[in-house]
Amino acid sequence: MTGPNAPHETGPPHRQGAEALQNAGSNGAAGARQMLRRLRDVMAGCGSAQERLDATVRVIAADLVAEVCSIYIRREGNILELCATQGLNPDALYRTRMAFGEGLVGFIAETGRSRAFAEAQSHPKFAYFLETGEEIYHSLLGVPIRRSERVVGVLVVQNSSPRKYLEEEIESLETLAMVLAEVLADGAVPGGSIGGSMGRSDSHPTRLAGTAIHGGLGIGRVLHHQPRIVIRRVVAEDVGEERIRLDRALERMHSSIDRLLSTDALSEVGEHREVLETYVLLARDKGWINRMREAIDSGLTAEAAIQKVRDDTRARMASITDAYLRERLADLEDIALRLLQTLASDGENAGTEAYAPEGDWVLVARSMGPAELLDYDPSRLKGLALEEGSATAHVAIVARALDIPVIGRVAGLLGEAEPGDTMIVDADHGQVLLRPRSDALAQFAAAQGARAETRARYDAIRDLPAETLDGVRVSLNLNAGLLVDMSQLERTGADGIGLYRTEIPFLVRREYPDVDAQTQLYARILESAGGRPVTFRTLDAGGDKRLPSFAHDIEDNPALGWRALRIGLDHPSLLRQQLRALFRASAGLTLRVMFPMVATVDEFREARQMVELERRRAEANGAILPATVEVGAMIEVPSILWDLDRLAAEADFLSVGSNDLFQFLYAADRDSPRLARRYDPLTSPFLTVLKQIATTGTRHGCRVTLCGELAGRPVEALILVALGYRNLSMNAASIGVIKETLRSRQISNLDKFIEFLIEKNAADIRNRVTTFLRDHP
Ligand code: PEP
Ligand code: MG
Repeated sequence: MTGPNAPHETGPPHRQGAEALQNAGSNGAAGARQMLRRLRDVMAGCGSAQERLDATVRVIAADLVAEVCSIYIRREGNILELCATQGLNPDALYRTRMAFGEGLVGFIAETGRSRAFAEAQSHPKFAYFLETGEEIYHSLLGVPIRRSERVVGVLVVQNSSPRKYLEEEIESLETLAMVLAEVLADGAVPGGSIGGSMGRSDSHPTRLAGTAIHGGLGIGRVLHHQPRIVIRRVVAEDVGEERIRLDRALERMHSSIDRLLSTDALSEVGEHREVLETYVLLARDKGWINRMREAIDSGLTAEAAIQKVRDDTRARMASITDAYLRERLADLEDIALRLLQTLASDGENAGTEAYAPEGDWVLVARSMGPAELLDYDPSRLKGLALEEGSATAHVAIVARALDIPVIGRVAGLLGEAEPGDTMIVDADHGQVLLRPRSDALAQFAAAQGARAETRARYDAIRDLPAETLDGVRVSLNLNAGLLVDMSQLERTGADGIGLYRTEIPFLVRREYPDVDAQTQLYARILESAGGRPVTFRTLDAGGDKRLPSFAHDIEDNPALGWRALRIGLDHPSLLRQQLRALFRASAGLTLRVMFPMVATVDEFREARQMVELERRRAEANGAILPATVEVGAMIEVPSILWDLDRLAAEADFLSVGSNDLFQFLYAADRDSPRLARRYDPLTSPFLTVLKQIATTGTRHGCRVTLCGELAGRPVEALILVALGYRNLSMNAASIGVIKETLRSRQISNLDKFIEFLIEKNAADIRNRVTTFLRDHP
């Protein structure tokens, strides 16, 4: 399984070695079992630790017909040291040392992945260690030796001919490395202890930046998800018995998952249910179960077999960029851990290094499966920090349903956060603070107090209109994409949903939802809106939102590629199905639908024609039609700015997608951190464009709204209202602050000032407006 991940250089397989290894690897399970037992006996035999390691490399070299077999052990400071060798110069023992990342062996340790090289010396990572005399060997195969998921060394074989190692050979060496890890952990480490086993000893405060996935502020002690599992016995005594143990554990795990998912907190319908149901199916995946059975047949215990398949999955994950597939593999990782824990809890062959601190927790993980979150007491869980993870990660969707602050993409998190450390998750500002000093703790307490106060103030104006002191009424709406977001309507008092991103539910589904599934979903959304208007945006797929159920091309410029309405117009059946579902769900109600990325008036016409076709179809079928149908266009592509008059004359409403419009006008990738502060939207050119859109819309009696991030920032929102916008849509967290800001201001004097600044092409509009607002409270 790991084979496909091990990069190969081409070269003829070494006949003799290849055959011997094939025999070891696939001469059947019996051959593999014999080899494992022989190795275990050697390692458990008498003699000093060094003598046993020397015998080990001899046995492996002979069994695998390799000219060289060496063991490198990890020492303090992430240094690898040559501790045993068959074939290299014995004088190099305990002299050849390399850092993680240095040379091919260091590269294998650093990446934690097996690698095979037919021509090792021509690889850019190759480093030559003179004392070893290894220059005569061409090919090299190395696998990490792991203990409790930590790399504790590297096992290497080398051959003098440039040969291509086979997948079975890599598998065999990986299995041998597992046995070796077991013995090393028992203290058979000559020349000192294994380093890097526990983390840092210092306790300096650290701030790590990440991406907010679900807002909020939380504090607790670090609880590492995935306690490190220690497997004590790797080689099976009785293969039949191990199979039974695996089957029993699978059975117990399946029923425990079923119980977990029936919890009340998750009973509401929503995408999280679908995510969890797929998870249940994955836990019964035959391919995965068979791979574990095969590993047992090759001589491993049930625990080692699970671990072996788990390592393989993880190695595969490292090379997969497809977000959906990664999520699937992350789910599988979650399930495998659960299975190991099930076995660990009923036997002596494995145990966890679990440590659960007192009090509240912040959960820390690389990534997590959705069901794992449910294992933790929600009343103690104050935050979740992930080294990977994105807004559509399955665990993030479940965390949103439980309203736990989540921050993702925190680089270096696992290396920095030690179990029991105090940690603040400040998801509102996309950061975590580790081991905060007393001043930071005091600040946190103050921020929490202020947050509670602010929330109380916003709650108090929840049912009041967003109306300025001089009587300008603004409709404030929410941006949503999941069913769980709908509950925010009630909480914030928003007027409706100004942007429902319909692609978000598609992103978590393997299958493309058919018309019935879509109808049900849209009907539930409308139902939970309780009569408040919902603007559905048709599928904005492509770009960075690649649907798992759709064959997207790999494009050089995905943001400018085949995406959004372009796909819908090229695949009319997809767009029409979505419109059909929207018609059915809106029977007797108002249907508001808008198209993303409209670049020309013709595109809008074509799309609108499909709405008309669906209306006729529904009519012909005698279906109840929506009471009203409003069709709008998003203004996101600059080309349409030169045809706004015609568009406004034909559309029922326009909605400015300021995130995209700004990125395309300034040719500045909206997700590039380096560009994030380079261009300010509050400059004359952009404000001129925004004003032009508002004026044109008004001239044609066409409602104009804005649903980009701009709408949720106080100064920007005031300027938008001054430019003529009366309808804004934003994230739930912004509604309170924008309503409070609008209710405390006059607009009549601000609009003249803004006009003046635009006309003068004034520099530094942001500061000038801020000063103006301060001087005109
Ligand atoms: C926008 O582009 O401003 C917008 C609201 O759409 P999205 O962020 O989904 O691209
Ligand atoms: Mg957009």
